Amino acid sequence: MIENGIMARYGALLDLPAHTIPITLNEGNTPLIPAPRLADELGGGFELYIKFEGMNPTGSFKDRGMTTAISEALGAGAKAVICASTGNTAASAAAYAARAGQKAIVLIPRGKVAAGKLAGAVAYGAQVVQIDGSFDDALNMVVAISQRQPIALVNSLNPYRLEGQKTGAFEICDVLGSAPELLCLPVGNAGNITAYWMGFKQYEAIKSYCLPRILGVQAAGSAPLVLGHPVDRPVTVATAIRIGRPVRGEQALQAAEESSGKIIAVSDDEILAMQKRLAKEGIWVEPASAAGMAGLAAEIRAGYRVPAGQRVVAVCTGHGLKDPDIVVKDLPPAKAVPPMAELLEEVIMAGL
Ligand SMILES: *Cc1c(COP(=O)(O)O)cnc(C)c1O
Repeated sequence: MIENGIMARYGALLDLPAHTIPITLNEGNTPLIPAPRLADELGGGFELYIKFEGMNPTGSFKDRGMTTAISEALGAGAKAVICASTGNTAASAAAYAARAGQKAIVLIPRGKVAAGKLAGAVAYGAQVVQIDGSFDDALNMVVAISQRQPIALVNSLNPYRLEGQKTGAFEICDVLGSAPELLCLPVGNAGNITAYWMGFKQYEAIKSYCLPRILGVQAAGSAPLVLGHPVDRPVTVATAIRIGRPVRGEQALQAAEESSGKIIAVSDDEILAMQKRLAKEGIWVEPASAAGMAGLAAEIRAGYRVPAGQRVVAVCTGHGLKDPDIVVKDLPPAKAVPPMAELLEEVIMAGL
């Protein structure tokens, strides 16, 4: 049996209990795609790479943390797992639980989850429960239930999630041959920024690689770490980072500070513009995934210049297919043409 997920490749570097039973879908090993044209547009003179995490088995980076969390839970004897989710955690938990023969229960905020994510959770056989409330409300509920019932919590409060998610940092270093100088990524519950920082520090300790500065990016309508207080009613089109009380908020602020980086906010318009711009590189990401790159662009517009020769990595956390509606909802339907070449030619030439 050939398995090549993150536990097979980096297991020795992950702090997992001995009872862990590996459950994998060969997640990780996602492409690090150079984007020289986009770098030139942003002033040039530096190397820009997109870490496309939408290429994981369920379409987001959540799979890195789910393989480890589900593997640990299975080894500990859990027959069921539960999570609150803005969508991607739900799809990922559902897939890995299915593979482990466990039942998955996922709580989502009603009406705030993108179509491709909800469909994923259902397709993988999870029990989906909608909550008339926010993600933060849903999280409080699953924490309470996991304390009362023998159901494992697989939100990023679960430390094994972060152990798996560290491997994104390892992969970037392994491909580049050392750590980049700057890493940009979106911040919601702040588990991923925390995990990346853990991973880079671990490689610094064992391989003497330098540490990158970390630029964490929130959506302006959902930016508790920038405002310095929780947001009761977060609003943003970037549903994956629509979180008002990040559970790993303190650690995120620490990662930004320790790395001489920062956490900033960008508007929904900036996020959607960057989603479109990335698509012109052939990389279609869901809105939240464009936030890291949108943050870099905003910093550059505000006067920051990436030092010559530096390597910048933007983590694009999830696939565009997760949220198709955001792209098509305001468009007229594609033009219909009868099956006649001359009519097709007219339509094409009018658009050239
Ligand atoms: C979960 C998620 C995020 C936010 O990650 P956190 O660890 O919650 O900060 C960003 N983008 C996508 C696509 C996600 O699924």
